Amino acid sequence: MRRKLAAGNWKMNGTGAALEALKAIANAHPDPAVDILICPPATLLSRAADTLSGSAVALGGQDCHAEPSGAHTGDISAAMLADAGASAVILGHSERRADHGETDARICAKTRAAIDAGLVAVVCIGETLHQREAGRTLEIVSGQLAGSLPDGITGNEVVVAYEPVWAIGTGKVPTLEQIAEVHEALRAQLLGRYGSETGHAIRLLYGGSVKPANAAEIFAVPNVDGALVGGASLVAADFSPIVKAL
Ligand code: PEP
Repeated sequence: MRRKLAAGNWKMNGTGAALEALKAIANAHPDPAVDILICPPATLLSRAADTLSGSAVALGGQDCHAEPSGAHTGDISAAMLADAGASAVILGHSERRADHGETDARICAKTRAAIDAGLVAVVCIGETLHQREAGRTLEIVSGQLAGSLPDGITGNEVVVAYEPVWAIGTGKVPTLEQIAEVHEALRAQLLGRYGSETGHAIRLLYGGSVKPANAAEIFAVPNVDGALVGGASLVAADFSPIVKAL
């Protein structure tokens, strides 16, 4: 049985004042039946770890470098994230694929580095609107999944987030049938590559304009094990109903 996961991606939002929202999220879920993960900007991780001390809310980074250390100005290693209080890291988000030219191969190397540092890698994949309209969705996400995940992983080291690029921050959401089709294909691919135990254990999140109003119906789709939430994770009053819908 896969444990459900509600993950929040704060992107480049939040200074010290945002710790209040974190506190509110933690206070709203003192004993959650699901896993809760918030990924604030790296500048907030240490303070967030202090804020969340003793709570059930885990922290993650939003990216890491594939190398453990070295001459990479502006980058952060997986070990640094872990040292700052993270237990997970988002990798291959479409904004990083677009803004920083991240390839599947680079994301795969980062995923390996994250796992080696003891972090859960939340690996994002998803098609653009152009690719969907061209009927290439399954081909695109299958290629990204194959290229972004390393061999030899176990089921609790990786989470996969299916995030259609055109649904992120737009208020547009695929139909439930479209989400089901992709998640079923991803599950089949994971089973084929990693075998039954790992293939069944890896959690598949849906991400893209998840809100309190649509969370429950999305979570009822087979093979949806939770959500990666952007905008609605910044405010406890929006994120908490999503957590409760899981
Ligand atoms: C995201 O950035 O991962 C995301 C899903 O954003 P939003 O929920 O705002 O669409």
